[in-house]
Amino acid sequence: MLNENNLVGANKMDDLVVIKFGGSSITKKADNKFEMNYDILNQSAQELARAIKTTKIKVALVCGVGPFGHTNVKLYDLNNGIKNKEQEKGVEKTISDCNFVAQETATALEKVGLRPKLVPGYFVCKQDNRKVISFDTEEYVKAIRGGFIPITTGIMVKDKTLKWSVMSGDTVVAELCKQLRPKKVIMGTDVEGIYTADPKIDSKAKLIESITKENVPKILEMVGESASVDVTGGMKGKLEKLAQTLNGVPGEIFNLFTKRNLESVLLGRDIVDTKIRL
Ligand code: ADP
Repeated sequence: MLNENNLVGANKMDDLVVIKFGGSSITKKADNKFEMNYDILNQSAQELARAIKTTKIKVALVCGVGPFGHTNVKLYDLNNGIKNKEQEKGVEKTISDCNFVAQETATALEKVGLRPKLVPGYFVCKQDNRKVISFDTEEYVKAIRGGFIPITTGIMVKDKTLKWSVMSGDTVVAELCKQLRPKKVIMGTDVEGIYTADPKIDSKAKLIESITKENVPKILEMVGESASVDVTGGMKGKLEKLAQTLNGVPGEIFNLFTKRNLESVLLGRDIVDTKIRL
């Protein structure tokens, strides 16, 4: 008999890698500017294309949106319930700004010969009080099987209680991981991985190269949020979500700024980063 547990993973995709391009790398999140970081976006697209050519892996791409999401959400107070016209306009603006990030990412992929397919978060996800109540992976499975790379960004989605709420890119990663059981989940950001403290604030912070079931509770206590404007929990939120959903799927958090890092991780080469096995 089918129950909720064996439905999860029913679409298991062994050759799939879920990749996140962090908002801190593909946008000017650290400067809080509504701008893409085209250098890193194009570099990442090229490395992705080279790796796909060599390995024939399938990819689902999740994008953080940096200021295009977080700064708008703060400005219009969009994560505590939508109560007035001003906020409704804010939701519209945020959605349009996040879709811009998706579109620019798709263009970067097309330029290197890849076939992107936009899957907007508000089509697949519904929330209640900021928590996912349904997330439909059918569009992803269809796109991937058809030879496309689905792209979803963090964005505003319908919320049963709050009208609209924020669904982060990290939530998309977690849902895809839980439901599709990919081969690997890799997350590119603007630091080498998870440190003992925020490396942008504490110069003595040390990189944690391996996170396991044994050390994860202690690490969760140390890790902070984001040094930039971030309404979805920053590095701590990322690790919390991964801890709940990896369940045997290997995870890796690495610096997307460093040339060849993305390609190396996709080719299974060892780089300096944080490897997670839970
Ligand atoms: P992204 O937008 O790429 O998903 P986030 O901004 O959510 O990334 O998280 C990355 C940021 O988290 C880093 O830029 C860093 O300043 C901050 N951070 C806080 N605590 C830590 C930590 N212990 N290790 C690494 N980064 C941390």
